[in-house]
Amino acid sequence: MDINAAQVEEIVKQVLGSLSAPVTASASSSASREIPKTARVAVLTDLEKIELKEYPIPEIGDDDILVKVEGTGICGTDAHEYKRDPFGLIPVVLGHEGTGEIVKIGKNVKVDSAGKPIGLGDKIVTCMIFKDNPDITMFDLNKQNVGGADVYGLLPDDADHFKGWFADYIVIRGALGSTFFNVSDLDLDSRILIEPCAVLIHAVERAKTTGILKFNSRVVVQGCGPIGLICIAILKTMGVANIIAVDGNQGRLDFAKRLGATDSVNFQDYNGAEDMANGIAKKWDGHLADFAFQCTGSPVGHANIYKFIRNGGGLCELGFFINGGDATINPHFDICSKEITTVGSWVYTLRDYATTFDFLKSAKSIGLPLNELISDKYPLSKIDDGFKKNLAMTGLKIAIMADR
Ligand SMILES: [Zn+2]
Repeated sequence: MDINAAQVEEIVKQVLGSLSAPVTASASSSASREIPKTARVAVLTDLEKIELKEYPIPEIGDDDILVKVEGTGICGTDAHEYKRDPFGLIPVVLGHEGTGEIVKIGKNVKVDSAGKPIGLGDKIVTCMIFKDNPDITMFDLNKQNVGGADVYGLLPDDADHFKGWFADYIVIRGALGSTFFNVSDLDLDSRILIEPCAVLIHAVERAKTTGILKFNSRVVVQGCGPIGLICIAILKTMGVANIIAVDGNQGRLDFAKRLGATDSVNFQDYNGAEDMANGIAKKWDGHLADFAFQCTGSPVGHANIYKFIRNGGGLCELGFFINGGDATINPHFDICSKEITTVGSWVYTLRDYATTFDFLKSAKSIGLPLNELISDKYPLSKIDDGFKKNLAMTGLKIAIMADR
């Protein structure tokens, strides 16, 4: 095939064009980087009461970053704060599952917490874990300055105001030593889903420590809320081929199949745990699960799941993010005589957070519709409706999006 000079020129132009595309894109968005004098934050001023308040955007120091918020997921933690304020933070600007674009950056800030270069126009997320120490998987609100950092989105409101992601802008203060990552190579929906996905990356890492979870394992995932659904997507992305999803909602079970479950069990069709165990075994030629993930916050869900696991199998319990009450099990039949290996999982490490970025890219590349986990999007001006939708538990992940 002959290529003439004109064609070569055209190809070079195209390649250069594609190379400079991100630059052009960020240049064209520079209009949005014209920073207003004031901006809104959504302050939780009382239980179930969020007020949008307008404040001057504070000065940005040499170690600080100003981010224009694009979108933020509502976390279970946010919902608990909204309803009961268990951490005693009111008044507070909530939102820690947020992401946005850097519109102003201090001259000392050159790299993110992973050492990746960072600059104007980059998309970032913050992380509530601030030390790469496997012993620290959770911020400690009773010792707010462990490691010299604070958690954006869970800090009481003060004169600085822009400390949570439910806002037009957020200020990342370098002095606080918080962790933040350059995630410019992820699309907006993926960036909003980073935190809940990190919880599952951690759970799967915990599951792997049992030595029981293998590529060819038969795996039960019980509970198809966002947590169980993401669990299925991670297992699928890893190459685990036999996954049965368990839930009582057929719509969620159908979605579970699109995210990688090979089969599903609707507990409404069964009469108790033994019957469900038989139903699961029937789908696997008489075999029970090698491994199970318990993703419901229901004590009955915990008590039942042992029945689904074979002798010598494993269990990861991650459904009880908060105290959901006591579960009754029979230690002889459920654990001892079956020699079940159990791990618990809670939150994630800083390393899991970084692993999550790669998982989201892999999941997208094999066509898993993870973005559909975000069932509802509300503009910041309607944040109260978003929280009400979240409390009604009729959606999956609810996100609050920029409307300025
Ligand atoms: Zn969260």
